[in-house]
Amino acid sequence: METLQNRDTLVQVHNLSVRYRTRLGEVSAVDGLSLDIRRGEILGLVGESGCGKSTLGKALLRMIAPPGEICDGEIIFEGENILAYNQEQIRDFRGRKSAMIFQDPMTSLNPVQRVDEHIIEAIQVHETGTTKTAARERARSFITRLGIQAERLSDYPHQLSGGMRQRIMISLGLILNASLVVADEATTSLDVIVEANLLDELRNIRQAFGVTLLLITHNIAVVAQLADRVAVMYAGRLMEIGSVFEIFDHPLHPYSQGLLNSVPSIKLDERDELYRMPGEPPNLTRPPQGCRFHPRCPMVMPVCRQAQPDLISINSEHRVHCWLYQESDMDPQAGRLKGTLV
Ligand code: SF4
Repeated sequence: METLQNRDTLVQVHNLSVRYRTRLGEVSAVDGLSLDIRRGEILGLVGESGCGKSTLGKALLRMIAPPGEICDGEIIFEGENILAYNQEQIRDFRGRKSAMIFQDPMTSLNPVQRVDEHIIEAIQVHETGTTKTAARERARSFITRLGIQAERLSDYPHQLSGGMRQRIMISLGLILNASLVVADEATTSLDVIVEANLLDELRNIRQAFGVTLLLITHNIAVVAQLADRVAVMYAGRLMEIGSVFEIFDHPLHPYSQGLLNSVPSIKLDERDELYRMPGEPPNLTRPPQGCRFHPRCPMVMPVCRQAQPDLISINSEHRVHCWLYQESDMDPQAGRLKGTLV
């Protein structure tokens, strides 16, 4: 099961495909997606609703439930393919090595269980020899580090503010020293002040605990503030990945360009109209052939409708799936700024 892996890489996703079987047909939610997550980084994963980013996050933690299934690919975590894990290994992996923070902590915390009971249970399930007293002591010191008074451990979730509940979720994720935390729209339900505080905390947590964070969000501003690198998804596929500076200063993929142009800017004059991307995301039971973005792309070329572009490396940090950067035998006009085939 051991696989060669760069020491700086925590997770390697190879050619991952996830589908959901529905009454309307098979939904191709993630299709042939490959990316790396580096140890200790914050990787922002952005894209419109329904683009497959939450499905990817769940797949990384083996949390895809029927009618969904991972139908192809590999997820290599610290050298092991977690898709080959049995149920016991998955349970251990989820608690001790990885964790997920969801958008609404109220739906993740049991409303009739006190906060300390949540944390103590999480510790005792994964560390069977730990006594209740030792687990409570650890919970006390941990939540204090996250800025919550230890007495609040006796509260029920509804007695805490939204920001505190989210910090309790973070405690649950980190108290077992998980190396990968997937935060799925973790700040979306919070007001802007609490959100800003929590973003600061996430940054501190990364430094203090050396944790690797996959930050799934539709909020580009959150990514700009916090992430080291950004991956852009559209219709189940990776469109572009690069450092936050590369993607924000020189987005290459037409979809990334549209996404960034549609964010309001204080530089806009009040007479300027905000850019609106034409068209709608595709129905993933019948995704478009070739490049899945082609029906909405202002740069579309004949080749885009025929075949999916490869992953092109522009430099060591920046990769893009787009025919604009790839030589094509099918369409001599396709190539412009050329990259290297990965
Ligand atoms: Fe547009 Fe073609 Fe690039 Fe797709 S491959 S984003 S359709 S130019």
